[in-house]
Amino acid sequence: MAATRKSRSALSVSVPPPAPGGERAFIARLRAEAEAHRGRHAGLRLGIGDDCAILRPPAGHDVVVTTDFSLEQVHFRRDWHPPESVGHRCLARGLSDLAAMGATPLGAFLSIALPPELAVAAAETMPKAARRKASGARAASLPGSLKPESWFDRFLAGFLALAEKEHVPLAGGDTAQSPSFDFSGHKQSGLAAADITLVGAVPRGHALLRSAARPGDVIYVTGALGGSAAELLALGRSPQDFAARTLAAAHHPHLYPQPRLAAARRLVAGRRLHAGIDLSDGLSTDLAHICEESGVAAELDTSAIPIHKLARDAQQDGWVPSALSLALHGGEDYELLFTAPRWTKIPRTIAGVSLHPIGEIVKPRRNRPSVILRESDGSQTPLDSGGWEHFRGD
Ligand SMILES: [Mg+2]
Repeated sequence: MAATRKSRSALSVSVPPPAPGGERAFIARLRAEAEAHRGRHAGLRLGIGDDCAILRPPAGHDVVVTTDFSLEQVHFRRDWHPPESVGHRCLARGLSDLAAMGATPLGAFLSIALPPELAVAAAETMPKAARRKASGARAASLPGSLKPESWFDRFLAGFLALAEKEHVPLAGGDTAQSPSFDFSGHKQSGLAAADITLVGAVPRGHALLRSAARPGDVIYVTGALGGSAAELLALGRSPQDFAARTLAAAHHPHLYPQPRLAAARRLVAGRRLHAGIDLSDGLSTDLAHICEESGVAAELDTSAIPIHKLARDAQQDGWVPSALSLALHGGEDYELLFTAPRWTKIPRTIAGVSLHPIGEIVKPRRNRPSVILRESDGSQTPLDSGGWEHFRGD
């Protein structure tokens, strides 16, 4: 049975091709697109086309690796999210993890499974240059100005636009056709899934760890929180209003989150920071991760938490009882949370992103919750983790 076979190159296919000639065409397509968008990148010595990619981190750096799934009906819906947004978000999630560690991207590896109708479209809409390349002829020009057409075209356009902006080359991956039959052989609609792996480099010993927070540290966050959850609410109410949102823009925190790579790089350069994490699951959950890994507790000043305008609008429009709860528990903001000793000078903005002190790390105490909200009247309330958590059983 050749239904699955072992991957054999840095970008290969592990199921029968989606259409006659589609397998090689698909790979050639991705390769041509990756090369067109890659530019000069010193960290990538060899990209798509061999058994492995070769990355070369700068001298004196550690290599960091992260991986993230984007599953249809879990992380995105084809009837809600424009394909460009799905591609952008797929890469942004991995890049945000690199930012959380203070790392610079070396290469991205994209594994994607598409249902037959999307896979066929992807192979058929291969641009001429890639088609020539697939047939062995020398490509006269690379498809830098691809006109997006199929779902996959548009997914890739969103993915590569962010890759180009953040100078991260697509260095390899895998493709597969997701099944469209159930166990009884009945036809069902297949689902799309993408898995992103990011490899990055960080000066040796300087990665920001979740386990490095110390009592007395100030807790900072970048940007504003709750915007992604608020935009998701709006998206769910009227997806048709967002169908034309095909370009990354800062005012679409859910559809096009902006990973804070530049801010993170500037922050770690020459400054003493302790712990770091990106806010993917929500402030309440992600700060609890820091407390758990560092063996500390945290106190937040409620009035200091920066709340995104879209979250305030959602409260004003009566969609949610509290904008603050979106900022605390909403998730997918992909802002950074970091801690630093009190004497570390932190500017108000860096790389165009605002920085906000929101509380402090304290010693853990028996029978006291690990994260507490301090109100302006001096009262305190425990902050339970309320963010996104997989496998909760509901
Ligand atoms: Mg993360």
